[in-house]
Formats: sequence, C-alpha cells, structure tokens
Amino acid sequence: MEMQEFPMPEIIKDTDVLIKMKVVGVCGSDVHYYSLGKIGSQVVQYPFPVGHEGAGEVIAIGSRVTRVKPGDRIAIEPAMPCGECDQCLANRPHTCRKLRFLGCPGQADGCLSEYIVMPENSCFLIKDTLSYTEAAISEPLAIGVYAVNQSIPMEGATVGILGFGPIGMSVILPAIAKGARKIFVTDLIDERLTIAKECGAIWTGNPSKEDVVEIVKTREPLLLDVVFECCGKQEAMDQAIEMLKPGGKLMIIGIPEFDRWSFGVDKLRHKEICIQSVRRQNHAVEEALELMENKQVNVDKMPTHRFSFAQTKKAFDLVTEYRDGVMKAMIDFE
Ligand SMILES: [Zn+2]
Ligand SMILES: [Zn+2]
Repeated sequence: MEMQEFPMPEIIKDTDVLIKMKVVGVCGSDVHYYSLGKIGSQVVQYPFPVGHEGAGEVIAIGSRVTRVKPGDRIAIEPAMPCGECDQCLANRPHTCRKLRFLGCPGQADGCLSEYIVMPENSCFLIKDTLSYTEAAISEPLAIGVYAVNQSIPMEGATVGILGFGPIGMSVILPAIAKGARKIFVTDLIDERLTIAKECGAIWTGNPSKEDVVEIVKTREPLLLDVVFECCGKQEAMDQAIEMLKPGGKLMIIGIPEFDRWSFGVDKLRHKEICIQSVRRQNHAVEEALELMENKQVNVDKMPTHRFSFAQTKKAFDLVTEYRDGVMKAMIDFE
C-alpha cells in the first residue's frame, strides 16, 4: 500500500456532489482486498484506492442537486445503483444489476482519498450532534440494522451472534434497541467478548477455550430463535445450526475466505432452519443514523484505534493481523 497523487475529482453529472473526506473506517472487506487481493469473484487490479465507510463535508454540488449544499456534513452511502434495472425497480437497489460500490474492484474507486465525487442520492445529511466518526460508522451499522430487520421480530427474542467484529457489534446494538431478550455472543478474541458484555450480551464465550454449543444448550434448553453468523467461519456455521431451535432463522452476514459453506443436512432438515444471506443493506442508512441521533444505540466502543491519512498502511496492517484488540480502525483526514 502506498500514497499516490490523483487528479482532483470533478463534478460531471448535474446530480454529482464533491466531498472533502473527514473520516473513513477500515472495513474487513477492505482488508480482504489488501491481504488476499480479492473477495470471491471481485479481484483487485492495482493500483486501486479502497475504502467505503466514509463521512465528509460537501464542497461543491451539481446544478440539479437538492439533497445537500456546500458546507453540509454528510454520511456517505457507498452504493450507487443504476435506478433502472429490475432490481432497482423492485426496491432492491443493493442487488442492482449495474451496481457501482465505492472501493469495489471494477466498480468505483474507494473513499480513502482526500476528495471524492458521489451522486447526491449517496449523501445523507447528519445532525450537528453526530460526529463524523458516527457518520462513517453508519455504513456498517446499517448492515446490522438491515440484518436485524430481515430476521425475526426482536421483541423477546433469544439471539446468537457468532463473531463480534464491527458487524457483530452492528447487529447487537439494534437488536437490543428493538427488544431482544437474551443475546449470546462468541468470538475468538477475548477483548471483543468484553466489549460484547458491555454492549448488553447476557453471555459470551470463546470457542477456542470452551464448548460454546453445550453452554448455550444448558443456558437456553429450548435453543435460540435466530443466529447471526458474523465471522465467515465454517465452525461458527456448524455451531449456529446446533444452537438454533426448530423453525429458527440463520442469518449469514460473515464473508468467508473460502468458496463454499457446508451444512449438516440432518439437523438443518429436522429443525427446518430458514437460511437468509445478507447482502450489505437496503434503505437502512437513515434508520442507522436515527438510532444514533436518538441515542438508542451508542457506537462509541466500535472505533478502538485512530490513524492519520498518511498512516493508512499502519491501520490496515493492524486490522489484518487483528492486533491490539482492534475492533475498528478509523482514518482521520485532519
Ligand atoms: Zn464495510
Ligand atoms: Zn439497478
């Protein structure tokens, strides 16, 4: 990874917005591109600027922009759907056939850049009470909000969250805000489990040290209503199937480093487990921002490390190696 000079981006369409970046969060997917050079079929051609969890200030706008004006503080939604395909027309812009996504190879350069241009539909004005850091965190938080909304009604639910990185945290916060009764969390990193407890998990366990399935079965004999797989690990998937009650729902959010999941057919079938994959999020940015603005969720425990823009490589190395109890590293532009 290195710093390169690029020409100043320009407003081309009359719905474009020029943004001066303030804060960018380092995401697990950025790190996949950095360490593996790809996620599934999306392969990086270098040089390629990454980054998609950003917030900034509006500098200039195209002639037809109405959502924002220069000086506005905004959260940036990284998805740029076409607005015309069957998926967009079916209100599924997140699976748009011609989706362009910030920092996604072959689609759009990322926002780890001092200035970027985005369509106005990707710009979300934030309240004065919200920090740029919270605005940038609205991106992963929106994924958690969407996953929770797609799962089951949270009121009174028993919930498992396997993997407590930023996405696991983005799931627990809205799950609790929406009334989940008991949340069980697992992760291989003890510092993350401490944070999970502080966020409201009733129990946390480290699968490298204890039999998490047996403990959940003992504590919750009827088993769990819903499990969110948030780490992309086969062992976690197997544990999720064990922990779910008959008729339970499995939400797959984690991005594995392998190409195929495997499922034990017997349990899956007998329990009639419902499986849903989560593709980022759909229309959940506003709710994520509102949850923070209304103090229903507090994301202060997510950013554990901060780096200047010039130190971006350091941030990526830290996150790649899961060093120092890192949850999320944030890049500050000033
Ligand atoms: Zn992300
Ligand atoms: Zn589309």
